Amino acid sequence: MIKRRKEHRAPKPVFLLFTFKDANGRVMLLPLTYLIGSVTFILGLKMLSHPDSARRGNLIAAAGMILAILATIFLYRDDNGNALGNYGWIFGGLLIGSVVGTLAAKKVQMTAMPEMVSLFNGMGGACAMLISIVEYHHNPAPSAGMLTVIVLGMIIGTVSFSGSVIAWGKLNGRIKDKAIPAGQTINFVLLLALVVMAIALISGYSTQPALFYGMLAIAALYGVLFVMPIGGADMPVVISLLNSFTGVAAAFGGFLYNNPVMLTGGILVGSAGTILTILMCKAMNRSLKNVLIGSFGGQQSGTGGATKEQGSYREISLTDTAVLMAYAQKVMIIPGYGLAVAQAQHACHELEKILEDKGVEVSYGIHPVAGRMPGHMNVLLAEADVSYDKLKEMEDANEEMSQTSVVLVIGANDVVNPAAKEDPASPIYGMPILEVEKAEHVIVNKRSMKPGYAGIENDLFFKPRTSMLFGDAKKMLQDLVGELKQV
Ligand code: NDP
Repeated sequence: MIKRRKEHRAPKPVFLLFTFKDANGRVMLLPLTYLIGSVTFILGLKMLSHPDSARRGNLIAAAGMILAILATIFLYRDDNGNALGNYGWIFGGLLIGSVVGTLAAKKVQMTAMPEMVSLFNGMGGACAMLISIVEYHHNPAPSAGMLTVIVLGMIIGTVSFSGSVIAWGKLNGRIKDKAIPAGQTINFVLLLALVVMAIALISGYSTQPALFYGMLAIAALYGVLFVMPIGGADMPVVISLLNSFTGVAAAFGGFLYNNPVMLTGGILVGSAGTILTILMCKAMNRSLKNVLIGSFGGQQSGTGGATKEQGSYREISLTDTAVLMAYAQKVMIIPGYGLAVAQAQHACHELEKILEDKGVEVSYGIHPVAGRMPGHMNVLLAEADVSYDKLKEMEDANEEMSQTSVVLVIGANDVVNPAAKEDPASPIYGMPILEVEKAEHVIVNKRSMKPGYAGIENDLFFKPRTSMLFGDAKKMLQDLVGELKQV
């Protein structure tokens, strides 16, 4: 039987939650573990900002969270001194969640990582939604403040849940991009309805549970309609935004339960997600306002095909590529999604080493949205032990482009597409790109002339300084290293 708490304690000011001694001067372990959990979470987040320390940071934050969870389960006491109880349910849930999470994370391909992140993020939103539902029913006469926290947590959590599920479906191709007629107006009306209903409920104008569940349904619909039309190159922004929504919703849960570790975690995820959203917007040249009203430019997605006649392209052989690179002064490698698909990062590092042995200066030009998740290329190259100093951010890489003898584009397409600068009709117009066409020679490796994620043709392939080197990235790189050994 599930035990129910009869009464809800009035929320205490958050700054009191880290008090370590009770009225009798005894040390309270629970707040101490929460402090440890919060500190490890902050440390972990800090360490995630560098590939060298990211793995350790993740483990440290996870350890802190496990400590906080176990401490809550075993040390929490309500005002009457009762322990949590319901251990069967709690550990049953923990066991199922841990098994499913571990299997999913072990099985997932690097290329499907954004989908998984999106789905897991949606689960966080669903948790926040469920917390709000439970607390709504546990509080027969909540204060306006508590009701505000419950309602906001429910709305934001639900939008994050339904939006993330749609984003997951779109990333794995199960759901196609769909322009919704008058979508912006509908979204605006839904938001307005949510605001009016929330005011009615919080002010006590109506106390009908139907109002609460009506809001839940509208929030779920808003999440769906908000993400549905977004496509093409704009998906990363929305995923990061939904991530920040989940953080904020979890922080509301922290308020509800006077739980500082939940509050810290939620605020950190919310703010980190917001910062990432702003950075992604900048990288893709989308305004945050457009993101918030669900109006993106990328109507096309990766299913499209090349249509425009663009003339002919030039091919280059592996031997010529090897000679060109061996005698180059400066080579810049531009990795993209194809490098991840081919799992060619180790072969790429081999190429870098052999070129450096020949006295060639090698660096990597990293576009912030290359691949399928923020930092994808950094993670991939770090896995192959490529030194972090060799990775140049887009702005720095562009500054060096005109002094670069050879640019080798490996499995990248949209992030080097000049249409982003030159063609106002292009769905990626305005997105800053790596301006590889400024280099002396550009060699593009991919398997065919097919488009990338945004589903559009790439003028770069037809430029006079560009040569195409067709083939799977891993095989091409291994063969190129073999050729270079002969030069
Ligand atoms: P793209 O998706 O534009 O292009 C990747 C290219 O790699 C394809 O054209 C493909 O061509 C080639 N390729 C695929 N497999 C291989 C292989 N085995 N060997 C060699 N080449 C291969 O990738 P970019 O990295 O340039 O751009 C990323 C895109 O993804 C952007 O539009 C971005 O907005 C979007 N996006 C980014 C996210 C992020 O957070 N980073 C998240 C979601 C979307 P071919 O089939 O001919 O081989």
